[in-house]
Amino acid sequence: MSTAPGTIWHPCTQMKDHETFPLIRIARGQGIYLYDEAGNSYIDAISSWWVNLFGHANERIIKAISDQGRRLEHVIFAGFTHGPAEELAAGLLEIAPVGLEHVFFADNGSSAVEAALKMSHGFFRNSGRPERSKFVYLDHGYHGDTLGALAVCGEELYSEMFGPIMTEQIRVTGPDCFRCPHGRSREECGTECFAAMEQALSEHAHEVAAVIAEPMVQCAGGFRMYPAEYLRRLREATRRHGVLLILDEIAVGFGRTGPMLAEEHAGVAADLVCLSKGITSGTLPLSVVLATEEIYRAFYHDYVELKAFLHSHSYSGNALACAAAVETLRIFREEHVLERNVPRYTLLQRLVRERFAGEPHV
Ligand SMILES: *Cc1c(COP(=O)(O)O)cnc(C)c1O
Repeated sequence: MSTAPGTIWHPCTQMKDHETFPLIRIARGQGIYLYDEAGNSYIDAISSWWVNLFGHANERIIKAISDQGRRLEHVIFAGFTHGPAEELAAGLLEIAPVGLEHVFFADNGSSAVEAALKMSHGFFRNSGRPERSKFVYLDHGYHGDTLGALAVCGEELYSEMFGPIMTEQIRVTGPDCFRCPHGRSREECGTECFAAMEQALSEHAHEVAAVIAEPMVQCAGGFRMYPAEYLRRLREATRRHGVLLILDEIAVGFGRTGPMLAEEHAGVAADLVCLSKGITSGTLPLSVVLATEEIYRAFYHDYVELKAFLHSHSYSGNALACAAAVETLRIFREEHVLERNVPRYTLLQRLVRERFAGEPHV
C-alpha cells in the first residue's frame, strides 16, 4: 500500500520537488546497502544522516534490542532506572575525557543541545549569577533544528525563516580553512582567526553562559575542518573568561574523525559534551549530555531550593535504545573498530590523494 503523494510531509525537503523526483521507497537494508521494492540496491553513503555505524541489520545490535524488548522496553526515567542505562552510563564515562562524570539522557541530538544550553544557564543561575544567559556560537556551526539549538546555528539556511521567534545569541566568525581570510595554508596556520572569539569573550563574558561548537569539523555547515589548535585555544579562553564550553560531538563522536571523540585531537575536555547519532549504531533515537561534577553540583540541593534540573522527555533513557548503545560500545571494544579503521582511512586518504592530485578543490 502507498499513500497519496504529500500525505507524508518529509523533513528538510521541498515537497514540491517530489512531483518530478519521486521519493525512494526503501523496503529493507543490509550492510552498506538499501534496497527498494523493485529490488534495486543503493549504497547508503550518507549512513542515513550519519547515524549508521556498522551497516543496516547488524546482527549484534538487532539481537540486543530484541532481547531487551522481551525484558523491558521502556519505563519513566524520573524516579526509576534500569540496567541498560546504568551500563551505558558506565561505558560512556570510560570513553569520555577526564572530568566528565555525569550522564544526562535525552532522546535526540537537538534535545541534548537544548539540555546542555539550559544546564549552562542553570549552572550560573543556581550559583547566583543569573545574568549569564547568552551563548556564543560560530559561523557555519549546526546544532539542531529546535528553537534553542537553532538560535546557536551559524547557517542561515535553517534559521532565516524563524528569526522573529528565536532568541538572539552572539555569533562569532569562526575558522574557515577553505577560504582562509588570513591567506594561510594549513601548514602556516597560526589560528589568527581565533582573535574574533577572543574579542567576543572579552566583550561579552560577563553575560555569557557558554560557548558551543562542533569539535574539529563543522558538519552540516559544509564539512569544514579546522585545526586542533583552535579548539585548544577555545578551551583555554573559555576557562580564562569563566565561561562554560559545550562541545557538540553529535556528528563527529563515535570514531567519525579517528578517535572515539573528536575533542581528543586537541586533548581537551569540554564542560558539557553532547552525543547522539551513532550512539545506537543508527537504530533508535537516543542522546546524552556528559557533564562535569561542578555543573552537576550546582543543581544538587534540598528540593525546596528549587534548583533541580527540571528537563525531561517522554522517552528519555529509553531501555531499547540504551541496549542498542551498550552493544554499540561493546562492538567498538571487542571488534577493535577504531584500530581496524586506521589502515582503511589511510588507504582511502592515499587513493583520494592519487586520484585527485592537482585538483585544488578536492
Ligand atoms: C544532527 C546534529 C544535531 C541534531 O541532532 P538531531 O538528532 O537531528 O536533532 C546537532 N548537532 C550536530 C553537530 C548534528 O550533526
